[in-house]
Amino acid sequence: MPGLLSYLDFTLEQYARLCRAIKGSKYQVLTMRELLECSSQDGHLLIMRHDVDEDARNALDMARVEHDLGIRATYYFRVRKRVFVPAIIDEIALYGHEIGYHYETLDKTRGKTRRALSLFAAELAMLRERYEIKTACMHGNPLTKYDNKKIWENCELGHFDLIGEPYLSLDYNQFLYLSDSGRTWLRNKNKIKDRVSSINMPPVQVKHTGDLIELITGGGFEKICILTHPKRWSKNLINYLTYYFIDLAYNAGKKVTRVMFLL
Ligand SMILES: [Zn+2]
Repeated sequence: MPGLLSYLDFTLEQYARLCRAIKGSKYQVLTMRELLECSSQDGHLLIMRHDVDEDARNALDMARVEHDLGIRATYYFRVRKRVFVPAIIDEIALYGHEIGYHYETLDKTRGKTRRALSLFAAELAMLRERYEIKTACMHGNPLTKYDNKKIWENCELGHFDLIGEPYLSLDYNQFLYLSDSGRTWLRNKNKIKDRVSSINMPPVQVKHTGDLIELITGGGFEKICILTHPKRWSKNLINYLTYYFIDLAYNAGKKVTRVMFLL
């Protein structure tokens, strides 16, 4: 008899279904770096972006699912305990996925731009001791008042030998942007920072992962960028329920205490 988890959305099993649908579709999956280095962006293209916020082990589970299907994704890692775990990131890199830097230096320096830029350089250098980092992506912490990508008001990506930042380098009037933030694919009305503005995109009704699979199978949008947070795609019920309740609290507009993050 199938377990309870098989009836739920946002599980590793559902993610594998999504990946199989992508594999069987007309979309070519590119990493962020590949897309930016590509001379032509013709045809059906899809970016699979993962923001690794809490625990690198969840990312490894996803990376294996993708690798089994020959899909290469882009993983952005925060520099913090349980996320910057070289033994795990090494394996993800070995699978051919792009490793990127998930920065939050304005949060960490409480809005001090100069300090944020030097911390950015230091953390990036640490990641580069092991990985070739060409793109970086901001972390949007709903519990802080800072917008981490504001460091780019004072500095260029090229200064750090970076070629792209998903919030700055992709045109979201061309790329349909779908994020699992808030445990739904619907455009989130809650106070989240990982939104993008896309004026010319028609509204899409993608609520469940099954809807997203249909959209991908249909191929109606030529360019798609999918953002997932690996912590949300659990392979066991305890992990699922932990993040389910954290999401529920976010969606209710409550402040989640640091204690909950330690779960
Ligand atoms: Zn993040």
